[in-house]
Amino acid sequence: MTSLKMKVLLMLLAVTAAAEQKSEAGQPSFNAVRAMQYTREIVRFGARPIGSENHKKLENYIVSHLKGVEVAEDAFTVDTPEGKLPVRNLIAKFPGSKDGIIVIAGHYDTNYPLRNTGYVGANDGASSTAILLELANQLRGKRRDGYSVWLVWTDGEEAVKQWSPTDSLYGTRHLAESWQKDGTIKKIKALIVEDMIADADLNIEHEMASTPWLEELILQAATELGYQSHFYARSISVEDDHLPFLKKGVPSADMIDLDYGYNDVFHHTPQDTLDKLSTKSLEISGKVIVRAIELLDKDSHAPAP
Ligand SMILES: [Zn+2]
Repeated sequence: MTSLKMKVLLMLLAVTAAAEQKSEAGQPSFNAVRAMQYTREIVRFGARPIGSENHKKLENYIVSHLKGVEVAEDAFTVDTPEGKLPVRNLIAKFPGSKDGIIVIAGHYDTNYPLRNTGYVGANDGASSTAILLELANQLRGKRRDGYSVWLVWTDGEEAVKQWSPTDSLYGTRHLAESWQKDGTIKKIKALIVEDMIADADLNIEHEMASTPWLEELILQAATELGYQSHFYARSISVEDDHLPFLKKGVPSADMIDLDYGYNDVFHHTPQDTLDKLSTKSLEISGKVIVRAIELLDKDSHAPAP
């Protein structure tokens, strides 16, 4: 056999093996049409800053979609530049057969300073809330052959006046402390935050502070599904809900698209509306998270602690 024929044969073998691997893994199950419907319904509440009536309505909306699921809460009051305000993280728990927890988190509060401007936070707040609700649909009522999965609707992510270490991430700073006290922190295998993941022009950042192997695992999930062109075109640092956990040693990553409109022009403005989003982007983000959970269950990616 000539070396050229040999090369062609080897290439064919490689292609066949790759195709088999793909069909064996299958397409992750995620209903993006339903996730978009949730996003639409959440936007209809209007601005949802902490301490508001609309926020309360959204809390009830989330809980009403979690019937039959074990839901815990981490509720408390914080001192902010605008006075004392209530914060409430909601945690839906899906037990697994393996010892350890995978946490998928996203914030449901919306920008506080813009609360009286007609701001609705379609991408920044509604999309992250909706994607978790659809993940709950996928997880409920099934026996998990893997780690337990906890979905966390984080609260008080947004700054009340101006972003700073003390005026931001109110919910997750408190939750990371609570989980350190009760020992949960040690059981978390990985924590993935999703934020602003429905932009029609989806470009998920390579977030520099995130745990490198977990960032790689997310890229692997995206690549297996053919979505890699939407991932990691840029490497940037983003302060988000993953930081309080990262600081306590939890492998954590932030799935975020901080290029929302040219030069991020729609971010934190009343232009953050439904027409900028797409069902396809929700599908990409949702399926990548589902596949990432499957990869984490296999356990071969996380280095030994
Ligand atoms: Zn925001």
